[in-house]
Amino acid sequence: MTRAKRQVLVRRREAPAPLAGSSNVRDTQSKPGPSTRRMRKSLLAWFDAHQRDLPWRRRRDPYAVWLSEVMLQQTQVATVVPYFERFLARFPDVQALADAELAEVLSLWRGLGYYSRARNLHRAAQLIAKRAFPSTAQGLRELPGLGRYTAAAVASFAFGEAVAVLDGNVSRVLARLRAIEGPLGLSEARLWAEAEALLDRSRPGAFNEAMMELGALVCVPGEPRCGKCPLEKDCAARASGLERAIPAPKPRPERKRLRMACGVAVTRGRVLLARREEKGLFGGLWELPSVAVEGASPRESLAAIGLRATGDEPLASVRRTLTHRELTLELYRCRTPRGALVGFIEQRFVARSELAQLGISTAMAKGLAQVESLLGG
Ligand code: SF4
Repeated sequence: MTRAKRQVLVRRREAPAPLAGSSNVRDTQSKPGPSTRRMRKSLLAWFDAHQRDLPWRRRRDPYAVWLSEVMLQQTQVATVVPYFERFLARFPDVQALADAELAEVLSLWRGLGYYSRARNLHRAAQLIAKRAFPSTAQGLRELPGLGRYTAAAVASFAFGEAVAVLDGNVSRVLARLRAIEGPLGLSEARLWAEAEALLDRSRPGAFNEAMMELGALVCVPGEPRCGKCPLEKDCAARASGLERAIPAPKPRPERKRLRMACGVAVTRGRVLLARREEKGLFGGLWELPSVAVEGASPRESLAAIGLRATGDEPLASVRRTLTHRELTLELYRCRTPRGALVGFIEQRFVARSELAQLGISTAMAKGLAQVESLLGG
């Protein structure tokens, strides 16, 4: 899949954004001009006729909306659909999620990546179960993991609050509509203000979804399909022939390389797994106890966490490309450690049959698959 195509399907990860309030906004909510009124009407009519049938659009309760929005951050729609359906089948409401063990939540999340989303979802469910589901964007933002975008999406889709959303798709549409040049990240405050100004307050949820859908299906990166766009008449980029040039591509950050040594200690067919605190890479997940290899040999690095490697050659290695990292896991056979490992909050020997129930990252699961022959049932 090309980078441009991937951008269509992927929601931007949330970052705290300043409140709207730019003086550049052309239409105010109190007195929308004819262009704003026309755009709202055309866009909603287009959305009513062309929106995709997605599972989270069939149920508009806050829990399902929230779950889908969290899963869609940084993840393609097609990938999210089966996860969303499995998750709802196992945890049909907030209470069921709040009552679940974190390990099971993480296990169902395996393959979606960004496990902090699952940890925050679980913590937020426990807070909601004690009180009630907040019904405003402001109240929702007090929950862990809900930034400005997700809070506004849940508040407008599920509760009809008149607050605008701004994700990657909406940013691109607005930047083109207003011919805002330069990388999107530099115009974030202006874009939030434009989104608020254009929002149709009579149908805020539908309007927000319509903007996102337009960005996903018509106003796509690279070659927008302007001939099919309900906003073509009011689009400044189209009028000036800049629709392909906006937004300017953002410079790609270099991925850091991370090499980790993983200890494989097996006794009676069971492999030693360990769990870190709930933060950072592999936080809260079960793993082959691992350590970054930086300025020391893998054997020395493993010794620093309490593992004695039996040789200098890895049994196997796994490569994974994450958003910000090129990760290499090297698996070394180790002796059974006598005491607690350094840097972990829990450790235990696990049989192959138990692995599916544990929250294990995709990278570690691949590593474990490579040493499966050492394990019993
Ligand atoms: S006219 Fe083209 S560039 Fe403008 S909003 Fe529509 S699809 Fe995007």
